[in-house]
Amino acid sequence: MSKIIAVNAGSSSLKFQLFEMDDESVITSGIVERIGMDDAIFTIKYNGQKETKTLSVPTHNEAVELLLKTLIDKEIVHDLTEIKGIGHRIVQGGPYFDQSVIINEDVKAKIKELIPLAPLHNGPHLIGIEAFEKAIPEAGAVAVFDTAFHQSIPDSASIYPIPYEVSEKYKIKKYGAHGTSHRYVSERVIELLGKPEHSHIIVAHLGAGGSLTAVKDGKSVNTSMGLTPLAGVMMATRCGDVDASVFDYLCEQCGYEPHDVFEMFNKKSGLLGVSGVSGDMRDVKAAADEGNKRAQLAISIFERRVVDYIGKYYMELGHVDAIAFTAGIGENSSFVRHDILNMISEATGVVIDDDANENGKGERLITKPESKIKVYVVPTDEELMIARDTKRLLNL
Ligand code: ADP
Repeated sequence: MSKIIAVNAGSSSLKFQLFEMDDESVITSGIVERIGMDDAIFTIKYNGQKETKTLSVPTHNEAVELLLKTLIDKEIVHDLTEIKGIGHRIVQGGPYFDQSVIINEDVKAKIKELIPLAPLHNGPHLIGIEAFEKAIPEAGAVAVFDTAFHQSIPDSASIYPIPYEVSEKYKIKKYGAHGTSHRYVSERVIELLGKPEHSHIIVAHLGAGGSLTAVKDGKSVNTSMGLTPLAGVMMATRCGDVDASVFDYLCEQCGYEPHDVFEMFNKKSGLLGVSGVSGDMRDVKAAADEGNKRAQLAISIFERRVVDYIGKYYMELGHVDAIAFTAGIGENSSFVRHDILNMISEATGVVIDDDANENGKGERLITKPESKIKVYVVPTDEELMIARDTKRLLNL
């Protein structure tokens, strides 16, 4: 029996999923939210039950202690030494990591050095790593980077055409994100295709955050997010690609502070900003169906921008064997998949199977046999990928 916990430490939250790796089953999962507040919220799912309590959780150390004490109190584990490995999701691995690694002092130093590239994430990740080290010192720990899968992207696609010395000095380039999801989904699609020697796949991860990746022979060759997750397609509250001059124009001519524009682009744009309704596709769709023009426009921009990237990656890959939709919207919004596939059908020869698209559930093919490209829905599972990497690297 080997138990592994996948951990995602955010600035004020700590998400976890405990796996029994013998059969990759999830024993328990949950989240501590609002860390730092007197009314933090701890939610844990176990045995089909969900429990929530509100309590004071001053720091990540207390969040880890709370989680581990609950595992013992509920007899989910009898002893913390049953947890043999801890897999930490790390948002930014910069140029240093092209795969997951066992955490040591050097790895921690590099994660720390990269804090300026991901100020909201890498700092809290380190706090999470150290809190678990303190709580379960005998367990091994592994870092799984969101950026690692994209390190195979060639310079011609990852270097921004700004002065080269500036890019080099400040480590500015497209690092991408969602790499663990893109790796998981593309590996699954390769299996579904019958493990061919060569494969050209486009993965569309469309959740609250969204990104597309072109995957050639199992390797990422381009992705839509950039230095940060702000680039690429339109998202729940992020704008995705815009002319960089919009930033300058808002600051120099319209009286905005740089910080406020950055906040606007990240938190008040996208589906939320255009529709004025919500960043959740379900709410935007409901409003659009009732005739709300801005909600309709938001959905059109969202779909069109995904199509833009599919077109770009179709050209880059030369041909495409499969497209996969994943994450909240990609897995659940059949109308989004339908509209996108409709828009690309003439150019690509995609023939959608409407019944499979609309009425099927979970992982499935949603194109007809005559379709030139197979299109799949593949539910992503980043936590399982983190747990698998942890097991493999720690030899558990
Ligand atoms: P995150 O990027 O936070 O991991 P998710 O992958 O969970 O996001 O996706 C969250 C988004 O997915 C929601 O904001 C919502 O727009 C969309 N979503 C989730 N469930 C559904 C559903 N059943 N139908 C349509 N959209 C959904």
